[in-house]
Amino acid sequence: MTTAKARPAAATVPALTAADEQHMLALYRHLHARPELSMQEHATAETIEAELRTLGLETFRCGGTGVVGLLRNGDGPVVAFRADTDGLPIAEDTGVDYASTATGTLPDGTEVPVMHGCGHDTHVTSLLAAARLLDGARERWAGTVVLIFQPGEETAAGARAMVDDGLWDRAPRPEAVLGQHVMPLATGTVGICRDVAMATADALRVVVHGRQSHGSQPQDAIDPIVAAAHMVTRLQTIVSREVHPADRAVVTVGTFHAGLKENIIPDRAEFTLNIRTLEPRVREQVLSAVDRIIRAEASAAGAGEPEIERLYDFPPNHNDAAATPRVIQALEGALGEEQLQILAPMMGSEDFGHLGAAIGVPSVFWFFGGFGSGTDMPVNHSPHFAPVPEPTLATGTRAAAAAMLAWVGVAGS
Ligand code: ZN
Ligand code: ZN
Repeated sequence: MTTAKARPAAATVPALTAADEQHMLALYRHLHARPELSMQEHATAETIEAELRTLGLETFRCGGTGVVGLLRNGDGPVVAFRADTDGLPIAEDTGVDYASTATGTLPDGTEVPVMHGCGHDTHVTSLLAAARLLDGARERWAGTVVLIFQPGEETAAGARAMVDDGLWDRAPRPEAVLGQHVMPLATGTVGICRDVAMATADALRVVVHGRQSHGSQPQDAIDPIVAAAHMVTRLQTIVSREVHPADRAVVTVGTFHAGLKENIIPDRAEFTLNIRTLEPRVREQVLSAVDRIIRAEASAAGAGEPEIERLYDFPPNHNDAAATPRVIQALEGALGEEQLQILAPMMGSEDFGHLGAAIGVPSVFWFFGGFGSGTDMPVNHSPHFAPVPEPTLATGTRAAAAAMLAWVGVAGS
């Protein structure tokens, strides 16, 4: 009789020394004060490369400002871990003494303040600190860790840029791709979703073409503002009247621009839409309803064909059914069972899912807390988003190290 060989228990996560903690904190403050806009993370990439070189790791650039580090430790399984690196065009208002005063230039030439308003600096710091822990404990494990420092998450450009630049031709193929995000949860804790982790996002730009006229002569105009206003109103009925109440979807019109003066009926109105769904079936339903409503309202107004342009999309972010329990076990082992909660899917989005999906390997993504419980927790992208460094960074570091150790081999087994 043969029995399946059980996977040996993962190596335990080494403790952070006082020197590790000091180094981690200094690195975090450095990164937080120097955020860079999406796909322009040049100095950030250099800081990451310098850290990886200090550990003696092989690195390569990928997707412009993306950096990959390879932590090779003999024969054994390969696992990949992704941290995103970009900041946001937000004027920081956190009051911390390492707050950013940096500015950057958007692709359209606008100069803007820049802030790590989504906490990606905690992701970079945690992954570098976890790499340091694993490097210092090579006798405990065997295999390879692919450290992915991905640019441009906020514009949905970075994961695709890295894959298109040959990420998976240049790095060994992993058994799983892992990632984490800081959130308004209690610091020291982690949360994870089973199955769907985050929503798919679609962004569209709509241009409604009318006929321009004097404001006193509507009979000579086709008013694109009135037509577009009907579109915006009726778009709200997709979620309330068409989508099954048990399914989740969001349709938001985030911008609306038309006209230059009150006594001119303009010739065009323009608005942008953001759509979030959790299931491909619901996504198709909502996108097709959006298209139908916009075209029908244009026709009802006697306006010309509207333009509907796709701006970007964020892919699905699904936690693999087989891989997720292994990560949950690792997180509970490293942080304590009571520190982990199972969360409902987030309506926020991520381009993380693209990295694993591109080569058909499972992904697992979770969240770690950044704020004192009982305090007012600012949401990601708020100018007040200032995670408390400790124990947030130690939690992100231990979570990353534990999950990576759950995938590589145990030394000597
Ligand atoms: Zn964000
Ligand atoms: Zn983010």
